[in-house]
Order: sequence, then structure tokens, then C-alpha cells
Amino acid sequence: HGLVFETISKGFRAARERLTGKGELSEDVVDAALKDVRLSLLEADVEFRTVKKFLRDVKQRALGEEVQLVAKGKDKKKVRVRPEDHFVQICHEALVDLMGPVDTSLARANKGITGIMMVGLQGSGKTTTTGKLARKLQREGHSVMLVAADVYRPAAIHQLQVLGERLGVPVFAAPGANPVDICRDATEEASIKGVDFVIYDTAGRLTVDDALMAELENIQSSVHPANIFLVIDAMIGQDAVQTAKAFDERLDLTGVILTKLDGDARGGAALSIKATTGKPIKFLGMGEGLDKLDEFRPEGLAGRILG
Ligand code: GDP
Repeated sequence: HGLVFETISKGFRAARERLTGKGELSEDVVDAALKDVRLSLLEADVEFRTVKKFLRDVKQRALGEEVQLVAKGKDKKKVRVRPEDHFVQICHEALVDLMGPVDTSLARANKGITGIMMVGLQGSGKTTTTGKLARKLQREGHSVMLVAADVYRPAAIHQLQVLGERLGVPVFAAPGANPVDICRDATEEASIKGVDFVIYDTAGRLTVDDALMAELENIQSSVHPANIFLVIDAMIGQDAVQTAKAFDERLDLTGVILTKLDGDARGGAALSIKATTGKPIKFLGMGEGLDKLDEFRPEGLAGRILG
């Protein structure tokens, strides 16, 4: 994940250097270090209120906590943790709190088939991620059906059919029909067949628009999927938060999937989404291949960011 979070990592490294050799985490020293962090977070497209919240949190912890003593050396003499190490430890905790907690398991329906509704802007990676989730579920031993609910672009239906063939997963498609009817009919067919999971690949637009949102609301209330995942392209930077808020206002999102983190996006959305919408990121898209889907682990990501 080198490239994506490099901007953020750089800021923390600079802060760490600034603290090295300082006697303790005094307010002046912490403020100076946080200035480096602040710049890098903003540069990496972290939403600005989230940046403020994070800095406040780190400062409070840094000035509020006693520096710990740890046993070191042969004689296990207690020594003070170096201020720069203490600072990094605090940042780690604050990052984890900012991005978590997250339960990456899929919600299951109480009985019958479990629905997964994929929503998001056009090009965000919905169809690709639909394939990735289908592959994951298949490997866990579940049966899956895909539903082509993006009826506006014939290429989208074809793309899903190609994915279905590759995975050996049935694809329900009815070109020309209404997306709400398609989803309902597909659910009925899946029930009859005894399928475990149905993934609805819905339509996207270039921007959030009312007609699309109304259609997605109708699908939601017609099939009541246990999971509604918003797929967001990490490359859209600051717009990720606005997009997430717009979808969250209209739909009962259960989680977010952030894609294209293998590219040169600056990754700020990974830090902002939970803080701004309350919705956890569940998975990260790490490439075009169907195996490139990672579960989102705030601990692991914080560790990578802080090196
Ligand atoms: P949709 O319009 O939301 O269904 O988006 P698609 O699934 O068609 O994806 C749009 C483009 O993004 C395609 O070229 C995908 O191969 C690509 N894509 C999707 N997810 C990822 C990812 O995690 N990493 C990279 N590098 N490309 C991705």
C-alpha cells in the first residue's frame, strides 16, 4: 500500500523527527509536531473537520497521559518511553478510533436468502466489486446469484454476465425491464433455487441524482437487503465524503467499500468516511483482479501509516 498512504506517512515521520531528543511532550512541542501531521492529512484529502477532530484527540491524549515507564535492559530497569515513541503510540490509538470499530462479516438475513445491494457512482467499481464479493462467498462455500439491475447501460449487463461466466455463478438479467421488478423477480427465483446470497449490481450515474436515488430507495424497500454497500472510488478525494453523505441520506447503508487503493489516490477517504457518516469501511479494493479485495483493518492500516 506504499503509494496511497505515503503522503500521510510523511507527515507522521516529520512529526516524529521533530519530537526526537525533546525531553517531554509539552504543549509547544506537541503543537509543532501536529502542524506537520495536519498539513499531510489535508494534502491527502482527509476531510477538514475530521482532521481537526483527530488533532484535538491526539493533543488531549498527549498532554493528558502520564508518560509510561517500561522495563528495559538486562536488569529490567524501568525507563521512560521516549516522547516520540509515546506520540506515535497515541497517534496509532487515535487513528484506530477514527476508522473503527469495524465488523467485516456480512450481515445474514434471519431466514432465506441474504441480499447484498451494491450502490455507488458510475465507474466507482460496483460491478468489479460485485464479482470480488461473489468469489469470496463462493470460496467460503456459499451459493451466489448476481442480479444485473443496471439496465441503462447494456455494457454493464454484459460485464456482469462475463464475470458470472468466469466465476460459474448465475446472473439474473432482464434487459428492458424495470430495475425494481428485476430485483424482486431475481429474489423470488433465488428463493426457489435455495441460493444463499444474492448480489444486486445497481445503476450508477456520474453524479448523485434524484431519479437514481428514488430508484435505489424502491429497490431497497422491495427486497430489504441485509447489506447495502456504497462503493466509492478513492481517487475522487474530497468528493468521497459528499458522495457518502448523499447516499447515506437516502439509503440505509450498512457499510462502505473503498476501491482503487492500489493506484495513486491519496487515501484520505479511508480516514474520513467513518467520522463523517458513521458508516464503517468494510472492504478495500486493491486492484482490478477478482482476488483484490481486502477486509478493512483499522489496526493494520494505522500500523502501515505510522510505519
Ligand atoms: P461501476 O461502473 O461502478 O460498475 O465500475 P466498474 O466495476 O465497471 O469499474 C470501473 C473501472 O474501475 C474498471 O476499469 C475496473 O477494472 C476498475 N476498478 C474497479 N475496482 C478497482 C480497484 O480496486 N483497483 C483498480 N486499479 N481498478 C479498479
